[in-house]
Order: sequence, then structure tokens, then C-alpha cells
Amino acid sequence: MERTACCVVGGGPAGMVLALLLARSGVEVTVLEKHADFLRDFRGDTVHPSTLALLDELGLAERFARLPQRRVRTVRLPVDPGRPQVTVADLSVLRGPYNYVAMVPQWDLLDLLADEARREPSFRLRMNTEATGFLTEAGRVTGVRYRTTDGRTGELRALLTVACDGRGSLARARRELGPRSFDCPMDAWWFRLPRRTGDPSGLVGGAGDRFLTAMIDRGEYWQCAALIPKGTDAGRRAAGLGRFRAQFTAAVPWLADRTDALRSWDEVKLLDVRLDRLRRWHRPGLLCIGDAAHA
Ligand SMILES: Cc1cc2nc3c(=O)[nH]c(=O)nc-3n(C[C@H](O)[C@H](O)[C@H](O)COP(=O)(O)OP(=O)(O)OC[C@H]3O[C@@H](n4cnc5c(N)ncnc54)[C@H](O)[C@@H]3O)c2cc1C
Repeated sequence: MERTACCVVGGGPAGMVLALLLARSGVEVTVLEKHADFLRDFRGDTVHPSTLALLDELGLAERFARLPQRRVRTVRLPVDPGRPQVTVADLSVLRGPYNYVAMVPQWDLLDLLADEARREPSFRLRMNTEATGFLTEAGRVTGVRYRTTDGRTGELRALLTVACDGRGSLARARRELGPRSFDCPMDAWWFRLPRRTGDPSGLVGGAGDRFLTAMIDRGEYWQCAALIPKGTDAGRRAAGLGRFRAQFTAAVPWLADRTDALRSWDEVKLLDVRLDRLRRWHRPGLLCIGDAAHA
């Protein structure tokens, strides 16, 4: 029988920070992460001032500052073609050292947290291991069943199981936690375009009559997001990639010279934007945090 004090399901930001904190306090903690690594494209990059302050409190500020990053202090959006952009956020007015957003891919942050946690003898990270269900005894969650990518299955017993497995959390199937969804008017398309010398840097917005867009500077390429009304993905795809390129170009004219780099709809991922939360974040033996609790 495998045992741990705390089983953390999911090695995203919520799970890795929790595991680091517990391990530093000497609590035996095992993180199960279904993927082989943290390198996932479909992730954000903005590390906000409050998160930077938290990393500082954890003693990780110097290590974090050494990660390749861009620092963004203002967010500007165009209102009308040819008119000056409007500053919609100016973080430089914040007091304290963290008056900026650090643009760091989430996988770099997770690698840093995992590396730091591995220094603690009570920390274990099991990659390629997917929790497939909860173990319960007399109404109490007592751990999880799991399956590894090489097909092995097992059970891990724990005094406390923490669901940090994101918005598709196993815990959301539990009716007693009362998952609740709210209407959300938009979805997002997520795709890359090349970045060239002379381009702006950091986080850049764009607005046309068809799209609001955000471009995240990831060094050699732009990670682009285009907001579309919810439920219009299939219809817009059917209208053709050429049409999308034209509408996108209207919103972001300075990228017009490279929208051809988008060769197929396979390169445009749909992010189903959701707004939901659990009414109850815990039950005996189980706690839900991060996107598992509210997305
Ligand atoms: C496209 C996109 C862009 C975003 N941009 C930003 C941004 O710029 N700034 C920002 O602050 N936030 C951004 N977000 C939101 C942010 O990524 C999430 O809020 C954050 O990652 C939630 O952290 P989490 O640890 O709760 O869950 P997740 O990050 O979703 O992590 C869950 C982890 O659990 C693992 N997992 C899932 N199920 C299981 C299972 N059964 N067993 C084992 N492991 C499992 C997953 O592989 C994953 O590693 C973005 C999200 C998306 C999708």
C-alpha cells in the first residue's frame, strides 16, 4: 500500500506552490502530474505583481529574476486607426518593487518551483501519473487511484488529497461540491505568428470591429489571442482562414506581413473560456484549490 501525508493531484501553479510550502514545512507530499513535463503551449505568460511578491516571500525572487523575461509596465490599446493608443493600465504607479508584469512562460515558472521543491526530502513529484478517481472510506476521501503512461495502475493513500488538477478537475464530478457555471460571452483563439526585429515588445493589444486581440511577446514569436463571441468557432472556421487573416489584420495592421504563416486551422487552438466555481471547496479528506475550485 502506497501512502503519503498529502497527495496533490496536478502539478500546475496551484499544486506546485502548495507542495513546495508543505515540503518546506516538513510535510510528506506527493504530487501526481499526468504529463511528462511542464512544457505546454496552451498556457499564459503573465506573472502579476502579487505573484512576484509571493515568489519574493518564498525566497525565490532572485532565481525568478534570472529567468528570461520581459517586464511590462503599461498596457496600451488602439481605439481608432490612426489615433494614439490609450493606456488602459499603468502598473508603474504601484508602490514596492513589483510594479510590473513579468512575461515568463508558465513552464519556466513550474520548472523553477519543482526544482526548488526537490531540495526538500519530503517532496515527491511523480510525472506521467494521472489520478483516475478518489478512494473513499465512510464518506471520507482517503487518496486516489492512479494510472501511469506505461499502463501501470495503483492506489495512493493520503491523509489529505488536494485537487489542483485545473478546470477539468476530477473533483468537479462530485455533485456535493456543487459545481456552478456562469455565462461567459467569449472564447479565444490561440495561435503563433513570427516576431521580427523592430516589433514592439511585451504585451500588445489590438482592436478591430471583429476582434479584440492580445499578443504576448515570447522572444522569437508572438503568442496571439483573438477573442471571439462564444459559440462562433465552427461558423468562423467554415468561413475560411483567409477571412480570419483579413479580419485579424484589420485589428493588428503591423502583423499583416506575416499572417500567411498561419497555414491551417490546426494551428489555431480554441480556448473555451469558462467562468465557474464550486459552491463548496472541501469535504472530509479533500480540498480543491486553483482552477479546480474556480476558473
Ligand atoms: C491559454 C491560456 C492562457 C492563460 N494566460 C494566463 C496568463 O497570462 N496569466 C495568468 O495568470 N493566467 C493565465 N491563464 C490561466 C492560468 O493558466 C490558470 O489560472 C492556472 O494555470 C491555474 O493553475 P492550476 O494549478 O489551478 O491549474 P492548471 O494550471 O490547469 O494545472 C493543472 C495541472 O493538473 C494536471 N492534471 C489534470 N488532471 C490531472 C489528473 N487527473 N491527474 C494528474 N494530473 C492532472 C494538468 O496536467 C496540469 O498540469 C491562462 C490559461 C490559458 C488556458
